Amino acid sequence: MTAESETTIIELCTQKGMRMTDQRRVIAGVIEAAEDHPDVEELYRRAVALDPKISISTVYRTVKLFEDAGIIERHDFRDGRSRYETVSDEHHDHLIDLRTGNVIEFRSEEIETMQEEVAAKLGFKLVDHRLELYGVPLGDEDKG
Ligand SMILES: [Zn+2]
Repeated sequence: MTAESETTIIELCTQKGMRMTDQRRVIAGVIEAAEDHPDVEELYRRAVALDPKISISTVYRTVKLFEDAGIIERHDFRDGRSRYETVSDEHHDHLIDLRTGNVIEFRSEEIETMQEEVAAKLGFKLVDHRLELYGVPLGDEDKG
């Protein structure tokens, strides 16, 4: 998810004292521009279109670097591929369409509140959570 007002990946990297090579900048830009949740191979396809000298191993290493720095977030949506997105200020959860693999972002205040209540009942203050819903479109349940 991208928003104009948010700090860019490049800015965050610079703040953390990371050396930003041209290739890292291209990869950061590709992640920033992504409206979906691309995996490394997809990021590589997009990055190499901008800079043909970028290798897939550079993309792997750079993504790992950004992830370890807490600048991007990795998701595993049960299809065996790690997917990435920028860490956004605005929390959201994901619904995965099992037919197409499409990832839909959503936020439910009721769920957010309920999770806090559950944690509190167990004696905890909730600091983070991940929620993934897996579904098929209504009306498609019986097909295939
Ligand atoms: Zn997302």
